[in-house]
Amino acid sequence: MVGDVAERVNGASTAIVTGASRGIGAAIAQDLASRGFHVVVNFREDLAGAERTVRAIEGAGGSAELQRADVTSRDDVARLVGSVAASGRAIGVLINNAGILRDSSFRKMAPDDWRAVLETNLIGVINVCHAVVPHMIERKFGRIVTIASFVGQSGNFGQTNYAAAKAGIIGFTKSLALELAQYDVTVNAVCPGFIRTGMWDAIPEAAKEKLVSRIPLRRVGSPDEVARGVRYLVENGDYVTGQTLNINGGIYM
Ligand code: NAP
Repeated sequence: MVGDVAERVNGASTAIVTGASRGIGAAIAQDLASRGFHVVVNFREDLAGAERTVRAIEGAGGSAELQRADVTSRDDVARLVGSVAASGRAIGVLINNAGILRDSSFRKMAPDDWRAVLETNLIGVINVCHAVVPHMIERKFGRIVTIASFVGQSGNFGQTNYAAAKAGIIGFTKSLALELAQYDVTVNAVCPGFIRTGMWDAIPEAAKEKLVSRIPLRRVGSPDEVARGVRYLVENGDYVTGQTLNINGGIYM
């Protein structure tokens, strides 16, 4: 429970959630805030969405702040983490959620589509971890959860760039978990299946029907279902590190 976590880390109950302006990130931010964490709501462009997340948290009696930063920019990330640390808040939790899609078959994929997806979904995660990890080591406590995807485990037609980035995250997670275990910093990945967010809504209806027919539980998941898995790793996963938690309706086993 958050009380235990906060006590053990002398109040290090601030959680940074990247890409929290909508979708899965917004759900995670609201869920962690409801458990007592002060949540740093990060976004890149979608200020209105990020403000909605903060309003929802505060409306429910929680505590949050807005922080604009592009995770692909090491300067932006350093500014974000520096500003949270300078305000005296101790970062106990990092949720790497920000991510983008630039789908097309490999033959048609433009170099910019490779680069953007790898820079956001993989290098972005590394950038934020690099800035946050020293603070966690100093306190000898941390919970890092990165939102990967079942596509990083199974591959998917039209997503060579996305699959490479998400598979990279899984390897990164395991290696970082080995390095940080001695400081009681756990590092895990969550691999969602298809989740109802803007990413899902952008898929044409006919394609959605086909995709749902491939899911053993016969439905897409909700952002809240992912948030509950993240909460488990943050609050109750003290002896869980270097793992991937699959929240995917059975689409990859
Ligand atoms: P979404 O609704 O498109 O939201 C993406 C979030 O990431 C937005 O808040 C966006 O903010 C932020 N973002 C994108 N680029 C950023 C950058 N460079 N710096 C900072 N923030 C950035 O996506 P979602 O469906 O919730 O997905 C969230 C995560 O779950 C992603 O990592 C995605 O790959 C993963 N995932 C999703 C699904 C699914 O079916 N939805 C399945 C498996 C995994 P701005 O608009 O302000 O840039």
